Amino acid sequence: MSLTRVAESLVQDTFGVPGKARQLDGEVDLNFRVDTPQGQSYVLKLHGPDTDDQVLDLQNRVMEHLAHTELDLQVPRVVPTLDGQAMATVDWPAGPRRARLLTWLDGRPWDSSCADESGLELLGAKLGGLNRALAEFTHPAQNREDLLWRMTAADDVAQLTDEVDRELRGLVVKAFEDHDRLVAPVLGRLPWQVVHHDANENNILVDAENRPVAVIDFGDLALVPRVVELAVASAYLGVSFADPVDAVAALARGYDREQPLTTEELGVLVDLVRTRLAMSVTLAAHQGRMNPDNLYLQTSQKGVRAALERLSRVDRDLARQRLRYELGYEAEPAARSVRGYFASGAGRPAPALPGGEVQDLYEYGAQRSREEREDDGAVGHAVSRGVRVMAGTSVHAPLEAEVRTACNGLVQLAHLTDDGVEFYSSWRGVEPAAGLEPGTRLKTGDEFAQLTAAGILEIQLATHPAAVRDGFRSPVDPAQFDLWRSLHPDPWPLVPQLDPRAARVEREPTALLQRRHAHFSRAMSISYDEPLTIVRGRGARLYDHSGRAYLDLVNNVCHVGHSHPRVVEAAHRQALTLNTNMRYLHDSVVEYSHRLLELFPDPLRVCFIVNSGSEANDLALRLAHAHTQASDALVLDHAYHGNSPTQIGLSPYKFNRAGGAGCPETTWVCDLPDLFRGPHRDLPLSEQVTRYVDSVACRLDELRRLNRRPAAFFVEPLQSCGGQVILPPGYLHGAAERVRAAGALVVADEVQVGLGRVGSHAWGFELSEVVPDIVTMGKPLGNGHPLAAVVTTPEVARSFETGMEWFNTFGGNPVSAEVGLAVLDVLRDERLQANARDVGARMLGGLSELASSHPLIGDVRGAGLFVGIELSHPDSTPATQEAKLLKEAAKQRGVLLSTDGPHENVLKIKPPMVVNDHDCDEFLQVFAAALEEIEALCC
Ligand code: PMP
Repeated sequence: MSLTRVAESLVQDTFGVPGKARQLDGEVDLNFRVDTPQGQSYVLKLHGPDTDDQVLDLQNRVMEHLAHTELDLQVPRVVPTLDGQAMATVDWPAGPRRARLLTWLDGRPWDSSCADESGLELLGAKLGGLNRALAEFTHPAQNREDLLWRMTAADDVAQLTDEVDRELRGLVVKAFEDHDRLVAPVLGRLPWQVVHHDANENNILVDAENRPVAVIDFGDLALVPRVVELAVASAYLGVSFADPVDAVAALARGYDREQPLTTEELGVLVDLVRTRLAMSVTLAAHQGRMNPDNLYLQTSQKGVRAALERLSRVDRDLARQRLRYELGYEAEPAARSVRGYFASGAGRPAPALPGGEVQDLYEYGAQRSREEREDDGAVGHAVSRGVRVMAGTSVHAPLEAEVRTACNGLVQLAHLTDDGVEFYSSWRGVEPAAGLEPGTRLKTGDEFAQLTAAGILEIQLATHPAAVRDGFRSPVDPAQFDLWRSLHPDPWPLVPQLDPRAARVEREPTALLQRRHAHFSRAMSISYDEPLTIVRGRGARLYDHSGRAYLDLVNNVCHVGHSHPRVVEAAHRQALTLNTNMRYLHDSVVEYSHRLLELFPDPLRVCFIVNSGSEANDLALRLAHAHTQASDALVLDHAYHGNSPTQIGLSPYKFNRAGGAGCPETTWVCDLPDLFRGPHRDLPLSEQVTRYVDSVACRLDELRRLNRRPAAFFVEPLQSCGGQVILPPGYLHGAAERVRAAGALVVADEVQVGLGRVGSHAWGFELSEVVPDIVTMGKPLGNGHPLAAVVTTPEVARSFETGMEWFNTFGGNPVSAEVGLAVLDVLRDERLQANARDVGARMLGGLSELASSHPLIGDVRGAGLFVGIELSHPDSTPATQEAKLLKEAAKQRGVLLSTDGPHENVLKIKPPMVVNDHDCDEFLQVFAAALEEIEALCC
């Protein structure tokens, strides 16, 4: 009987699975794919007689463990035998074997030839996720002392290097020596865990776009430093990259996102990759000799050998620095000591060019053109200083030094900081003094060179010997300026005659995004599939780095228009004069309070000035607590009131969505009166209003039953985050009545909608008959400057005067106050509230017309320049995907929109108040075209 037939019958007899078998490649085990007539597929694994059951159990348990985590990769599942065991001993022609049956996973092996950096980054993230999912896993067999491939047993493999062919033996031996000397001593200090340990092309399965979907073959599982996972993947999957460090960096960036890498792990990563390549070459040679017929063992050797050669040429220090930089650490940590040495005054350089008239040629960081770089034609940003000095001028050691290089044209000196860190200065364009040679010691002020006839001196600092080995590298690739400036800081302190100002380097959008990811939390989102780099704004227009203009319908902060000259001028004028805090008398803030309060009805006549909407709402809650001596608050469903812990607790938009901790005990959520999508939408309007007011009454009853009392009802008079919802007439009045009867205050959050946006009035609450007890404001008040405010009644303010001082460092400073005044002036002088009413009406009219011919528009609603367009499918389900596509399509056509609402299906319009009829018509045209595009796409 053929082996496949034997396999088929044992799968049937042992596991109860009928099917056709086909033999697969394998290093040690015999593997068969088994396809059942029902279309299911399995892998039958037959292990040699000396296989340790404990090791097989380790594999099975890891796969089961992973299947119950949130890992974003599929893993095979273990299929039990007919009597419920995870494995069984079976008869096999060559003697009994241990058999396991695993589910087959679809996908093809990772294709290195079409992997780019973003593909590797994604894979890195998956491997980081895999490690995270295995972080707590332990098993009695995890040490795997038998496993030759164990990265912590590299010294065992190093005994086999005689078997490596001559061509690579030298590199392999060197890799093991470096491992022994530089890596092995560090491994014990790294975080250890059980890792897959064999992420090679065959074990990562991908979809048609080469995106990883599954990981298989857990035969090399072992407890090792967890960074080994990344090293193994880098060794096998980055082999097609011309610069192997690019591949390691891409994988590391992704991995780090899921499982942050420590600096010690980063310090040995590239070395570990080289160790793994050396192990692979050595073990392939060894096993090739023992087992010449098993071609599987040689599969990836061509790429591995080439990768080892390339990686052996890489400067390991520069590679480490590059990886640190990629992940947002400073490339060279010693740079801090060098900066500190000069900043603290410990390093006091003597004049390097005491007798010379020095003329700056270019600044540090300056963009250097090809013409300026006649010698090598390189372009980029300078990480050196260039000066013109008279030929023959003598150059003196600015600090004590030891000469490292003294050749025609270049002298390099080594110096020491007071805390013992060595750093270096390079002087290019000089003739070394007679007798100067490596090792010569110089005292501060010693002459060591003269300017050559060209009279041009270039000076560079270096914080690490790798940067000196690298030569005089300047200018550098703009995309990597941040890396190189750590290795070559501004050498200005060495020649203080120079202009101390360094040029500011402007990063390209790709570099910006990468540095943003390196330095900021991903909890901070960024708009659009392809993020915009906005460099300038004026009126309602924003301009990107290429000069393209966009109509901004999103920004309700730059209320009177982007970079309004009157506001900018006010800030500038006051900043040049004085900026202090409210502990002194100053006219600006008193004038501002007066002008702001003029906009409010009685009895709102006390104000507090703060810096943000969240702060305003926090203060409002404190005022309410103080006034009512109660602690609970009512809010509307889907509301957002700010980013502080307290405000997150008042924001169902946050606490009930991704990452939210649920509703706090002291918060009571009332139904949002959403006439379009709410539960009572089919009832007559008045009935709906009653139901929604009842929801408030209901919450108050619940409170009472629990013997609790409410302090406040927080409400946006038009709810922005809930999806641009206009509260129905009568609702606020009814709700406020109930709330006040229960002893609570009404807090109107006007952070988004206030200051004339609704067109007919200054404040959203004026659309109702309710005068709130507290009003909070933010975004528009400072036109982008952080200015926010709370306005309340004298009674509430009095309750807050408990003896405890209220102080806000920045709130109400004269610059903020002048900015606030300028905003109020512009609003008045340019009649922007009336503009909001008129342009808003035109927009609503145009949109309603569009709605009649585009069924995707479920609802159009708004007041003034606060407009929402809710997209719906014919069956009334939210058209979330279409909203996102429309936002992107509008952006392609030069109009910026945002989406919001619980289902992210509401297009939100809240532009600067200066949009005019022309802008409105442009938007309507773009919107109509984008709608048609999306409708065609989604039909
Ligand atoms: N309240 C509302 C209604 C808001 O929309 C926001 C901000 N989106 C805030 C409060 C918080 O304001 P800030 O971000 O200035 O803290």
